[in-house]
Amino acid sequence: MRKPKIVVLGAGYGGLMTVTRLQKQLGSNDADIVLVNKNDYHYETTWLHEASAGTLTPDQVRYDIANVIDRSKVDFVKDTALKVDTEAKKVQLEKGDDLSYDYLVIALGGAPETFGIKGLDKYAFSITNVNTARQIREHIEYQFATYKVDQKPERLTIVVGGAGFTGIEFLGELGNRIPELCKEYDIEKDMVKVICVEAAPTALPGFDPELVEYATALLERKNVEFRIGTAIKEATPEGIVVAKGEDDTEEIKAGTVVWAAGVRGNPIIVESGIENMRGRVKVEPDLRAPGLSDVFVIGDCSLVINEEINRPYPPTAQIAMQQGELVASNLAKLVNGKTNLDSFNFDNKGTVCSLGDDDAIGVVFGKKLTGTKASFMKKMIDNRALYMIGGIPLTVKKGKFNLLK
Ligand code: FAD
Ligand code: NAD
Repeated sequence: MRKPKIVVLGAGYGGLMTVTRLQKQLGSNDADIVLVNKNDYHYETTWLHEASAGTLTPDQVRYDIANVIDRSKVDFVKDTALKVDTEAKKVQLEKGDDLSYDYLVIALGGAPETFGIKGLDKYAFSITNVNTARQIREHIEYQFATYKVDQKPERLTIVVGGAGFTGIEFLGELGNRIPELCKEYDIEKDMVKVICVEAAPTALPGFDPELVEYATALLERKNVEFRIGTAIKEATPEGIVVAKGEDDTEEIKAGTVVWAAGVRGNPIIVESGIENMRGRVKVEPDLRAPGLSDVFVIGDCSLVINEEINRPYPPTAQIAMQQGELVASNLAKLVNGKTNLDSFNFDNKGTVCSLGDDDAIGVVFGKKLTGTKASFMKKMIDNRALYMIGGIPLTVKKGKFNLLK
């Protein structure tokens, strides 16, 4: 009998969790497992704010996929998926031949959501992958270096669009990095402006107000200026335009604009004609796409409703990894001829938001944390993700062990 072929698209948190669990649950005679990813490395998306600010190097936030997959059970294909033909059950790749599948797992992560705001695609950076992180880091350094030559003050202004978790974590890293850059480039600290523009009436909307206050006060002490209740309307070659009052606007000149104001699903979902909301598929309880019994969608490409509040769970690595575990066990069931698939229940362990390497805020198992305790917890969470995918060897190689900084 022909072995079923399982194709997993994307080697992020969801995809690698699926594959590393599948290789434990299935023998090499049970199924052909193929993993497709753009690069031959995995990057920790949850560490990209550090690589963007320059507090970690790009190499510190990535590792070779070959380190965590069992080559005797998993074929790795380094290629870019372009489109899925769900009728023909094939994935179109950029370089290689079309890849057929019996079961498909789409775990391609998210893409920046720009809400059609003019100029953002062209003039703003986004914290999306290792390459965009490197670009942000290099761009900021270039601005500092060039300021010493042309003295244009706007080169030293950095605008961060959005005070969600990504924006706040990036600001925390900048707070530590900028003094280093000032020293390196011989620039007075008060020449540098970091402005965070947030459309909602508060930073970190929906998060515990006391913790939000802790975070904004700490960042303000590190010279971050918050423009709360202010929406970015446009990005230009000179900076950004924000809404002011009912019908007025204001221009903020800035050499660097980083858009950290939201994510949507991978464009492939729309391209492939799979039913979606902003590129995310509202999945069935067993994580299959509606009407597609052989396609599972997980991570930032999926949308799972929190029944308690009837709103989608925010897309996180935490949920992507739990989904990966469930998809692996459901696939193992299908391969073994069982049809009683399990439903996904998100086990929310909490949220910790770093404020640089040495501080953080969080709610873990319902308990509020700040300062060193929260920062310790954040590093433990980062290490846990490495451990879950690559066990002790990966954790020892890539883990964060400066736990009590
Ligand atoms: P990803 O982990 O992003 O992986 C997608 C993979 O698919 C990548 O390897 C990519 O290269 C590959 N890929 C993309 N397109 C293609 C293609 N066309 N063909 C082939 N391969 C492709 N969540 C938390 O729970 N905790 C945190 O502390 C946290 N911190 C964050 C900090 C930052 C700065 C950011 C940006 C996000 C953070 N998140 C956090 C959210 C979390 O990172 C995402 O929800 C999570 O990465 C989603 O996992 P995923 O498996 O769907 O995609
Ligand atoms: P987000 O959607 O959570 O936050 C975006 C912020 O941008 C919001 O506060 C929104 O009001 C603001 N915004 C939207 N349009 C704007 C405009 N025109 N002008 C100014 N502000 C605008 O997005 P994110 O922070 O990128 O997070 C994406 C996902 O990743 C979320 O699910 C988040 O929970 C997760 N994440 C988690 C962590 C963590 O757990 N530590 C860290 C980073 C990201």
